[in-house]
Amino acid sequence: MIYPDSAPRVLVIDDSPDIHKLLDVRLRGEGLALLHATDPVVGLRLAREAPPDLILLDMDMANTNGLSVCRALKEDLTTAAVPVIFLSAIAGIYDKVAGFDAGAVDYIVKPFDPAELRARVRAALRTKRYQDMLALRALLDAVTGLRNRTYFEARLTDELAAVRRYARNVCLIMVDLDHFKAVNDTYGHPFGDRVLQRVGGVIEGTLRTTDAPCRYGGEEFALLLPETDHAQGLLTAERVRAAIAATGIDRGNEVVHVTASLGLASTDTFADPTRLSAATLVQASDAAMYRAKRQGRNRVVADDGDLPAPAAAS
Ligand code: GH3
Ligand code: MG
Ligand code: MG
Repeated sequence: MIYPDSAPRVLVIDDSPDIHKLLDVRLRGEGLALLHATDPVVGLRLAREAPPDLILLDMDMANTNGLSVCRALKEDLTTAAVPVIFLSAIAGIYDKVAGFDAGAVDYIVKPFDPAELRARVRAALRTKRYQDMLALRALLDAVTGLRNRTYFEARLTDELAAVRRYARNVCLIMVDLDHFKAVNDTYGHPFGDRVLQRVGGVIEGTLRTTDAPCRYGGEEFALLLPETDHAQGLLTAERVRAAIAATGIDRGNEVVHVTASLGLASTDTFADPTRLSAATLVQASDAAMYRAKRQGRNRVVADDGDLPAPAAAS
């Protein structure tokens, strides 16, 4: 599901084991998953490995100032969005200001009132949840609910980095609905939107959960299939094509069918996948898709890459 229902993860970084025990007791019943680090270096590592939803950070640890830990968290893109609440025995205005200026969202003075502690933790988690929701929405397409073009571009870059670093394959399938203008012209734009929505759902249902179906634009979808080679990609593209063609969309007492043309490009058909750019892979799959259009639509065409002979047996 899009919005995780699991317990919010709260990382406590404090050099005093007693504080960890106290927080365990005080925050019991809040439905949180508490993670513990008594060493700030370990705390930073935990935060980077799997960014939590909130960090409770001791301001005055032996050898380490909490402010520098907070700054390190805020400078690192993977942890920058994690809210930090300072826990401090110092109630001075300047210390509080320094804490906020280092990037913290709140400051709790020890010894803390249990009810106030819980309320402040809840408030910070509430804001974090909204932030996560907005960040996620910015990457979703409003009509189909699939990932949008922005997500696609970023993900393709990541996948090509994995191709370079770990010699993985990635397959890109461009899907363009056939004669979609006629669907709009005949049945109206709102029905066209319903068709896009439905096709998006069918595509998503046909792929593996690790695949990334995206709305590329208009009536075009871009499907990223990590760790998939040419032959596997062809099988998947054919399944997607058949699933779209088999889908009937109800319109009163009429059932409307649409088809799609698919173009496929996979990194394993290129002589040097490590030098492959995002633009080249997109162009290759796009060109293959247009060949599918010219050959009569409702079909899959694969790009041959640049290897001397066809790389993959079908
Ligand atoms: P082809 O088989 O060559 O791809 O023909 P086509 O009609 O699908 O291609 P064309 O590019 O001429 O038309 C694309 C149509 O997709 C036109 C446009 O109105 C429609 N379209 C693009 N985005 C949306 C959308 O968000 N909603 C709806 N309903 N229609 C859209
Ligand atoms: Mg198009
Ligand atoms: Mg089209």
